[in-house]
Amino acid sequence: MAANKKLMFLPGDGIGPEVMGQVRKVIDWLGDNRALTFDLDEGLVGGAAYDAHGDSISDETMADSMAADAVLLGAVGGPKWDHVAYEKRPEAALLGLRKNMDLFANLRPAVVFDALIEASTLKPEIVNGLDILILRELTGGVYFGEPKELVDLPDGSQRAVDTQVYTTGEIERIVRVACEMAKKRSNKVTVAQKANVMQTGVLWRDVSQALHDREFPEVEMSQMYADNAAMQLIREPKQFDVIVTDNLFGDVLSDEAAMMTGSLGMLPSASLGAADPVTGKRYALYEPVHGTAPDIAGQDKANPMATVLSFAMMLRYSFDMADDAELIEQSAKNVLASGMRTGDIMTPGSQLVSTTQMGEALLAEMTKLTS
Ligand code: NAD
Repeated sequence: MAANKKLMFLPGDGIGPEVMGQVRKVIDWLGDNRALTFDLDEGLVGGAAYDAHGDSISDETMADSMAADAVLLGAVGGPKWDHVAYEKRPEAALLGLRKNMDLFANLRPAVVFDALIEASTLKPEIVNGLDILILRELTGGVYFGEPKELVDLPDGSQRAVDTQVYTTGEIERIVRVACEMAKKRSNKVTVAQKANVMQTGVLWRDVSQALHDREFPEVEMSQMYADNAAMQLIREPKQFDVIVTDNLFGDVLSDEAAMMTGSLGMLPSASLGAADPVTGKRYALYEPVHGTAPDIAGQDKANPMATVLSFAMMLRYSFDMADDAELIEQSAKNVLASGMRTGDIMTPGSQLVSTTQMGEALLAEMTKLTS
């Protein structure tokens, strides 16, 4: 029998521990009902780690996270730590994890649940059944390129420069992830770039196309200008399956796509690093898109779905356990369809439930679907 996968839990601050608690229950359920067991380790991160030992993540927790097959993080930060020195602030732990694992690919699915269709700002017929994945390059591009400066000019005005830089290798590695993901989905990749006005756009277009022709001829690839992609996302989002793009365009397009789904409490994400050529192991950090929600922390009010769905992404993309991921996702859909809602997605006529009740409903649905 294959060894258990090593899973690192980093609940963090605010609602982090509450929503992660529901994932623990899902993991226990998988052990009891599907004989699926994990080696689970847990560490402090963010403000919780700062309170315990004066830093946002200890060397030991960082090492344990690096050694794990995948990391699940709740959220970090909150007003309590606003005064903390820059290099020790809660967010520093996240940045450290991303840097040490070289997490260059950020995955943000935009899935519209039938039951929440009214929460979308778009018309139901445009978004019903929507299931797309935005892949954003996370470690390069204009946010990091040099020179990056704001200079005072002799005439008293200022001049600002940001530099968009990409290399063949940086583009190839994320487009490769996009093609691999597409093969597990609907087999379509759209590359969003600006080859009409940017040299980096020309490189994105040519490198992605060449990689496709060489390694993934069976995947359908199309090229689209990023501004058109922004328009098409609103006009006809269901034409897309996987969209892969640079750091800047990805920042914008992933937020645009998120809005179609209506709620922060429902949005999962993943960040992936390179695969080890020998073992195939890929660094991976999964986390909900939302933050620590200090306004509702500790009150059993948070929506655990984004974190549970992040765990489902882990099963699919890190562990190739698509069936189990689907079971969780379908259960989430059914629970919402039954009318249960946490406060963030509450609508008139629905049943307001707590974090714990939502988690329990999810388990009951998983049991129902498999019995
Ligand atoms: P937030 O996402 O924490 O909250 C925004 C609003 O959405 C709040 O009203 C909150 O109650 C609500 N909300 C968020 N998640 C919810 C959930 N699961 N269920 C129900 N309601 C939910 O963003 P913010 O208020 O801007 O930030 C709060 C803190 O979180 C800050 O310290 C910020 O730095 C941190 N933060 C951390 C991360 C992260 O760890 N990745 C991301 C964003 C913000």
